Amino acid sequence: MYELAAYAANPAASRGRQIVEAPPVGRTEFQRDRDRIIHSAAFRRLEYKTQVFVNHEGDLFRTRLTHSIEVAQIGRSVARNLGLNEDLVEAVSLAHDLGHTPFGHAGQDALNDCMKDYGGFEHNLQSLRVVDVLEQRYAAFEGLNLCFETREGILKHCSLKNAQELGEIGERFMRKMRPSLEAQIANLADEIAYNNHDVDDGLRSGLISIEQLASVRIFSQHLDSVKAQYPALVDRRLIHETVRRMINTLVSDLTERSRALIAQHHPGGVDDVRNAPPLIAFSAGIQEQQQELKKFLHKHLYQHYRVARMSNKAKRIVTDLFRAFYGDARLLPPEFQVRAEIDLPRAIADYVAGMTDRYAIREHRRLFTVEET
Ligand code: MG
Repeated sequence: MYELAAYAANPAASRGRQIVEAPPVGRTEFQRDRDRIIHSAAFRRLEYKTQVFVNHEGDLFRTRLTHSIEVAQIGRSVARNLGLNEDLVEAVSLAHDLGHTPFGHAGQDALNDCMKDYGGFEHNLQSLRVVDVLEQRYAAFEGLNLCFETREGILKHCSLKNAQELGEIGERFMRKMRPSLEAQIANLADEIAYNNHDVDDGLRSGLISIEQLASVRIFSQHLDSVKAQYPALVDRRLIHETVRRMINTLVSDLTERSRALIAQHHPGGVDDVRNAPPLIAFSAGIQEQQQELKKFLHKHLYQHYRVARMSNKAKRIVTDLFRAFYGDARLLPPEFQVRAEIDLPRAIADYVAGMTDRYAIREHRRLFTVEET
């Protein structure tokens, strides 16, 4: 076991759970959180939720489940190298996308539009709502009753208005403070994971090409070095070897730059971390290259007409579903009807956000096609 640094989140010094529980046996508080997340229904549904490509487009594309596992893998490597708490990084990483709607960003935008007069919809806040309220599994409490540190990491960003209503967990947004280093790691591991797998999946789908990517420095540098070393390498292996080197560069850079920042600010504990500037960061040069890659993906992949067509369909499905339930709450499954009596729009948002891509497509058919039941 590696030694935890003084500024690592310490499960024994956790700010605790909302409902007090006996301490776990044979595992730490953060391990228990990780375990609860893995056993949740929302976690299983990540298998059939997507970010860019819709689930039925192919079996080889990332899903939110494999994405979350990749984030956890990257995050844990960085955490271990910096003497930080791997278990907390893992818990936050595995939970960070639990609140995502079906159909990635298109779904989230559509649901947010539907909810604009009722408090809006924000996937980060929804992830917190999933673990705080929506998971109904334990006898003694609603949700998963996770530790403060895990919940804080899940709530990556949030508006000041929402922060005000969230109490303790929203405090840092009002006071402009940082979360734990473990939460900061999970956040940037997410960025590393999706940029790289979008390159990989984008190439696999044929929507972008190696030739186009040659204009992106971080890709072309590694592509050139792989080709120089292995001139005969082609296709998937060439792409994978290039992507793996990109990930390695980003992870190493993140680790080294963060190590330097930590040394410079030498936080004595987690409280110092909260008051310091962000201490988990890329170097300026790599940050710039990441931006260049992001811009490329935005222009050539996320705005590709084939992606736009699917996004358009996705938005229509989500909007149709919302309107149908809003028009007649009796169409909702019983457990959501109970919630609907308190707050109809929020109950619909909870139901729709919980759907997988394929469930939303089927539910749309069930509601709008006469032959389906
Ligand atoms: Mg993510």
